[in-house]
Amino acid sequence: MVQRGEAVQIKGAPKTIEVINPATLEKVGEVPVMGPEEVGRAVQRARDAKRHWTALSIDKRAQVLLRFRQALVDAKDRIAAVIVSETGKPKAEAYAAEIAYVCDAIGYWAKNAGRFLADERLSPHLLKTKRVISTYAPKGVVGIIGPWNFPFTLTVGEALAALFAGNAVVIKPSEFTPLSALAGAALAAEAGLPEGVLQVVTGYGETGEHLIDRVDMVHFTGSTATGRKVMKRAAERLIPVSLELGGKDPMIVLEDADLERAANGCVWGGLFNSGQVCISVERVYVAEPVYEAFLEKVREKISALRQGAGAEEDVDIGAMIMPRQIETVEGHVRDAVAKGARVLTGGRRNPKLTGFFYEPTLLADVDHSMKVMTEETFGPVIPVMKVKDAEEAVALANDSRYGLDASIWSKDLRRAGELARRIDSGSVCINDCLVNFQITEAPMGGVKESGLGRRHGPEGIRKFCDQKTIVEDRLGLKSELVWYPTTPFTRGLMRRMINLLFGSGLRRFFG
Ligand code: NAD
Repeated sequence: MVQRGEAVQIKGAPKTIEVINPATLEKVGEVPVMGPEEVGRAVQRARDAKRHWTALSIDKRAQVLLRFRQALVDAKDRIAAVIVSETGKPKAEAYAAEIAYVCDAIGYWAKNAGRFLADERLSPHLLKTKRVISTYAPKGVVGIIGPWNFPFTLTVGEALAALFAGNAVVIKPSEFTPLSALAGAALAAEAGLPEGVLQVVTGYGETGEHLIDRVDMVHFTGSTATGRKVMKRAAERLIPVSLELGGKDPMIVLEDADLERAANGCVWGGLFNSGQVCISVERVYVAEPVYEAFLEKVREKISALRQGAGAEEDVDIGAMIMPRQIETVEGHVRDAVAKGARVLTGGRRNPKLTGFFYEPTLLADVDHSMKVMTEETFGPVIPVMKVKDAEEAVALANDSRYGLDASIWSKDLRRAGELARRIDSGSVCINDCLVNFQITEAPMGGVKESGLGRRHGPEGIRKFCDQKTIVEDRLGLKSELVWYPTTPFTRGLMRRMINLLFGSGLRRFFG
């Protein structure tokens, strides 16, 4: 069981995973593949640790987690180096989207968790003699299964709300990027998080399955295909799941958009993290009158980007995670070109770099017969399609099995707001993109095949709890005599009450 520090070499372990830096192809670590016994032990340790953790007040838990935040601030360069080493992303992205996100999220939950999980006094409209309180109790041990694209944010960051709520957490990070979560859990332990409250188990999908078989809830972030398997497995034990899945986010640029801003947003939203973001701009619809001008602006901006290994200075766009991911991108570009798309820039692996690099790519004249407009590409490719008007753009935006995020670009905010309500997605940004993830007040999640449940906001922490209702009678024993039809007298009384309710009193009682 690896609990702290970077990856370790396990002597005589039957299987290990080598962690590779995708920008340099160097080996940066090795972790064990954990089987059912190791996962079982981790979950048991979490169950034991949870008792003490749950018994602490939220303020006490917040004190510990704020110490973790301080430790993270102090260790930011070391943690950023770990993230960059296993993802190949630019350092700036590791600081901004991972370390800064986690620090900010700790502060957000420290300020708000108590309020979101406070007992709520309810006023019954009918049985007015009852005092009703709704409470939140932690589920127990939460399993967090994460992807590789944000290996710190989507593991340690996802664990925060569960921890604030009083759960113990066991993380199963991606087999491609286990080191960030390990480093984060080790740092949290050093900062005083009690042993066993936050652990990491490493391995492939099977290790994730062993975790699902033992925990009290699963929070999964990853592909839609795996999300289906996770839900099926969780259904066997009737444990709840929260699923943050894939996307194919549309960007709509209307005739009256600020084209400069829209082009900047498009390049940022489409190429951040090499396009490997669940809420990436994956397809763009541009109104006919501004189509060519928009393409030209985007092309110019892409041409100025510097691609390279994330650890180097002055790199705008980093590596992709693995050959399989590049092959998907190549397949989508090939398919689009065969069906008539124009490649305005990029369209190939970067021949000057050794690692897994695909050049930032702009495609024009695409349509929905092409995979690049209908399947998740998850790479540095921006396909742009000309549309007649906003109506056509909305119809095409909704022509997808996904529904995670979307963006609309227009100076007419009222019209953009109306269109936003008609787009089938968990969120829509107007004149912006990607930013909603950083707004921890805003519920974030998908509709259709993009997921179930929400992170952030009140729902983002309550989902890690069981809601319990406590009903207290305020009249004492006498009320029992009135309400429980245990004697002929009270049965008669009850009958008369029912007659009254369904007779003349119906409107008065039921409204
Ligand atoms: P993936 O589905 O291949 O793997 C995700 C995790 O699931 C990994 O840790 C993997 O080992 C584990 N896993 C695989 N099979 C499993 C099984 N049968 N049971 C339990 N766990 C199993 O996803 P990925 O390639 O790592 O990540 C990319 C995907 O994640 C993209 O589709 C992307 O859109 C999505 N994503 C979504 C969000 C979001 O918030 N909606 C955020 C980031 C990434």
